[in-house]
Amino acid sequence: MNELKPCPFCGGEVRIREYKNVEFLVYKSDCFLVQCDGCGCGTSYELTEQSAIAAWNRRVPTNTGEETTAGAIRQSGEEGK
Ligand SMILES: [Zn+2]
Repeated sequence: MNELKPCPFCGGEVRIREYKNVEFLVYKSDCFLVQCDGCGCGTSYELTEQSAIAAWNRRVPTNTGEETTAGAIRQSGEEGK
């Protein structure tokens, strides 16, 4: 299932980008991310195309208007200290 949902923020087209030899802390690897052409939002680096697609589709809000996990974490993080 390679279907990519449209961007939840601007409704723009998204595409899979592949990066070769990306440097992580202790190793290099090819990786993938899904990024929106319209507003530039995207997933973090994923090691496979499939997981990039899955990560993107997970962040697209469902019809319940549910907040994304990333947004919830950011909000709770700002409360402390
Ligand atoms: Zn967008």
